[in-house]
Amino acid sequence: MKENDQPIQIQMMVSARLPTSTGEYRLCLYHTNQDSKEHLALVKGEVQGKSAVLVRIHSECFTGDLLGSRRCDCGEQLACSLQMIADKGEGVLIYLRQEGRGIGLLEKLRAYNLQDEGYDTIEANILLGHQADERDYTVAARILEDLGVDSIRLITNNPSKIQSLESQNITITERVPILPTVNGDNAEYLNTKMQRMNHLFNLTTDIFDISGNGKNSS
Ligand SMILES: [Zn+2]
Repeated sequence: MKENDQPIQIQMMVSARLPTSTGEYRLCLYHTNQDSKEHLALVKGEVQGKSAVLVRIHSECFTGDLLGSRRCDCGEQLACSLQMIADKGEGVLIYLRQEGRGIGLLEKLRAYNLQDEGYDTIEANILLGHQADERDYTVAARILEDLGVDSIRLITNNPSKIQSLESQNITITERVPILPTVNGDNAEYLNTKMQRMNHLFNLTTDIFDISGNGKNSS
């Protein structure tokens, strides 16, 4: 996401009350000095000065989040995280505008075509001249600071996200796992995430139930 050499600065432009199907939130819209995108924080309850706040940092996925694509687990992770925050009655969902692990929708769709030719998600990105994962979590770290959160419980399976945030001086007291549901369209993608991107779930024990029908039993 970092597009120039200036230190990343953020500014909350507006904050508005947002009632949803999972309860009432405050939606905060941020601008940065890096891009013209609208990064968002959906805040439940009063989090300023609190420790161990439940947080999900979600990177935009138009196909998964809005269309319910079965090629990835993004839509499910978004809905599940929001429900966890709603159940807790307090927390933050940060929505970063870095589509397709940072390569944008155009390139993500091109990568999908390569995957349909047999390449995995990492190989496809590299063939298109990208890195396997171009996401950056600096904006999320700045937003957490702006919200005044002391420390967080982070909903993620992604060790790179944890390392990135810790390098930005965000204190993570706990990783909260989130298990994807496997289907015929995402199994290969999830396997690549686990095997090649070190995501912290185990397809054989965590996700496939003993009946072997490929459904998440949790
Ligand atoms: Zn996705």
